[in-house]
Amino acid sequence: MAEEKKKIKRPLGRCRLIPGKCIACGARCQAECRPGAIEINDKGEPIIDLAKCTGCRRCVRICPAEALEMFFTPEEQKILDELAKTAPSAATPAAEEEDPEMAKIKAYLTQYKGVWVFVEQANGVAAEVSWELLGKGKELATTCGEELCAVVIGDKVESLCEEAFAYGATKAYLVDGPEFRDYRTVPYYKAIVHLINKYKPSIVLFGATGLGRDLAGAIATVLATGLTADCTGLSIADGQLMQTRPAFGGNIMATIKTERTRPQMATVRPHVMPMPARLGQCRGNIIREQVMLKPEDLAVKLLEIHDDRKDGDVDIAGAEFIVSGGRGLMSKENFHILQELADELGATVGGSRSAVEAGWIPVERQVGQTGKTVRPRIYVACGISGAIQHLVGMQDSDVIIAINRDPAAPIFEVAHFGIVGDLFQVVPAITARIRELRADKHKGGVIITECKPGEGQK
Ligand code: FAD
Repeated sequence: MAEEKKKIKRPLGRCRLIPGKCIACGARCQAECRPGAIEINDKGEPIIDLAKCTGCRRCVRICPAEALEMFFTPEEQKILDELAKTAPSAATPAAEEEDPEMAKIKAYLTQYKGVWVFVEQANGVAAEVSWELLGKGKELATTCGEELCAVVIGDKVESLCEEAFAYGATKAYLVDGPEFRDYRTVPYYKAIVHLINKYKPSIVLFGATGLGRDLAGAIATVLATGLTADCTGLSIADGQLMQTRPAFGGNIMATIKTERTRPQMATVRPHVMPMPARLGQCRGNIIREQVMLKPEDLAVKLLEIHDDRKDGDVDIAGAEFIVSGGRGLMSKENFHILQELADELGATVGGSRSAVEAGWIPVERQVGQTGKTVRPRIYVACGISGAIQHLVGMQDSDVIIAINRDPAAPIFEVAHFGIVGDLFQVVPAITARIRELRADKHKGGVIITECKPGEGQK
């Protein structure tokens, strides 16, 4: 009899939903539930079949809103009470038993350490986004207490390792050889996959350029890990990379984690992260790696390179001063008033997607989510409402000046200086005033008031 009592197993409890806490995250609990005890209702909330629940707690652990909890059914409570009387130690819940699968994942994750930045280059010249990413990578590596490393691939590109040290890397993995002179997807992804499998970095960052997007996508596919494209923010929380990017047409900012696979991979567009200061001569460790390629890896031959940039094309992403126009300009011809102001300031003319779609300015001058991300010293927004898709492309400009006749236009939320008025009067007045000042006439002009972004300043 006594022996029978000893055999009673301490119940594990069942899972239940805490009313009002579910955020309808997309059925993560259901995906995690091995016994199939969870169905999702039309509000996106879990319906739990207690008869099937085994008390494994996987759903509780995965829930991002902490909307699930464990409880004991009356029958389980009875068993617990019985155990408390007969075998108190058996009734006390042991420290939470770790799910063997979770333990396996944890052990796998801990093998991966370090922040890597891919140094994109063409003809031995690095893309500036690589240095911007090293700046951000340094911050991430410091937070994690890990090393910042550069990955340099090309032909006779060792000098880029030294350059990477000047931007904060302390180690560079170098794959150098004639077969890597020009970018081709297969040799490059094979080289990086080889490095990742050998050295196991926790985070790998790429510029969201044509090359970077192609390469990062291929690597993530081969390694079956997560990749977040076009991140606008990167940070560390609980040792994981928080990858923030616009979602649902830019209407929300989503923060994405790669919880169970490594490395955590992200791309970032040029000028989204600030350019770090160049530290000068710094020492680092260069790890030279040979990557064995098969003839079929080199099947794609590069015959010619056609540069599709036309004469007169501007690189708005790299411009220091930008005067941008939107639908408020009313016509293509009216852009000449922006061009005149831009000429006085030494600025580049850009625009909103509405202006591009209307055919008023070329697409390569579009600023925003589906255009270029810019970070000029001064951004003048004329007749632009400030839709979120425009703001994500210019809100990190050092100084934003907005000219709009609608005092409630959202552009004023991010502007440092706001002018409520008709741009057809304000812009020529500013241009004229600059010309006057240049001619040292010191006449009165437009009054611009300084305001803090977010105060709806006018
Ligand atoms: P409007 O929103 O029409 O604003 C015109 C403004 O001009 C108004 O605020 C008005 O008060 C002002 N105005 C009118 N006349 C005058 C005057 N005489 N003087 C002063 N002010 C005047 N948009 C982008 O810009 N870039 C992107 O990359 C981009 N990507 C997108 C991606 C997706 C998936 C989607 C769904 C949208 C995207 N958009 C993008 C479009 C975006 O949502 C807006 O529609 C667009 O930015 C609006 O352009 P606008 O401000 O020029 O026009």
